[in-house]
Amino acid sequence: MAFMTVCASTHSAEALADAVDRAVALLTAGEPVALPTETVYGLAADALRAEAVARIFEAKERPFFDPLIVHLPDVEWLELVASIPAKSRALVDGLTMRFWPGPLTLVLPRKGIVPDIVTSGLETVAVRMSAHPVFNEIAKLFGKPLAAPSANRFGRISPTTAAHVMSELNGRIKLVVDGGPAAHGVESTIVAVEGDALRILRSGPVSSEQLAEFGRICRFEKGHKLEAPGQLESHYAPRTPLKLQLPGAVSGEAATGDVGLLAWSGVAEPHKFACVEILSPTADLREAAATLFSKMRRLDEASVRLIVAEPVPERGLGVAIMDRLRRAAHSTAL
Ligand code: AMP
Ligand code: MG
Repeated sequence: MAFMTVCASTHSAEALADAVDRAVALLTAGEPVALPTETVYGLAADALRAEAVARIFEAKERPFFDPLIVHLPDVEWLELVASIPAKSRALVDGLTMRFWPGPLTLVLPRKGIVPDIVTSGLETVAVRMSAHPVFNEIAKLFGKPLAAPSANRFGRISPTTAAHVMSELNGRIKLVVDGGPAAHGVESTIVAVEGDALRILRSGPVSSEQLAEFGRICRFEKGHKLEAPGQLESHYAPRTPLKLQLPGAVSGEAATGDVGLLAWSGVAEPHKFACVEILSPTADLREAAATLFSKMRRLDEASVRLIVAEPVPERGLGVAIMDRLRRAAHSTAL
């Protein structure tokens, strides 16, 4: 397929109204459109129409065993797509009241209205409500849930700007709505609701410390891997090999001058590296998460042989950042 991909701005009230109209028209026609969310850009389509959802998989070249997150236009839709067991009711109410709209995805038993292609045939569905005003306006006008995985080709770095989406999907989809850079920059936290307890399937902007105020957190065991089939270790991959390492430990390799550094908050010996990106000069994990994927992308485009990524403190948002860096390192292992 080859489409002319339009990148629609939302900078003025008229531009926003035009972008929203175009997006709703395409969604209604069963087409996928790339939309900004507060986490990363999503490739959205009508979640209740299997053939519309199939177009997401096609554009992303995503394997069908990887289920999608369903984004609700409002909280009332939750009961229509998911069954909430009585034992989980208080927990779900607490979490949705506190974190929705926002970057928290809940995995719950699904209802029959959700097509198999969305859940990869699982008996559960992943749901969330985006806090991005442009996404919300489009979802509300469209009036139905949107399936929306990240708007990148499968296994690649998630896009945090409209320009990233263009570089991933240009010619494969008809519309990208530009809502500015994503505020959080890492994908939503995913939790499976298990009775009155939670299991964290993917770390993200909502930390385990925040979640622990609402319910017991079960430990993730190896046997549970299948529950989150999309949690492949080969996610978030740059094209260039990436290694998690302290920059001080880089010696011989860097002498050849073709190593890029993704530093945490500063760099002692910048001359050792062909290029350097600093995640947060003020050592702020929020800033680091928000810029992680664009900086990883910039180093990937710098034609270096190796990207060395410095570990960040593994607390709060740092857990999600380290998770993405480990996956990137794993999938590019030489
Ligand atoms: P994304 O590609 O960021 O939209 O994330 C989608 C991810 O959500 C998938 O790769 C899965 O890891 C997870 N997910 C979606 N649906 C389910 C489900 N029913 N059960 C467990 N994990 C799910
Ligand atoms: Mg993704």
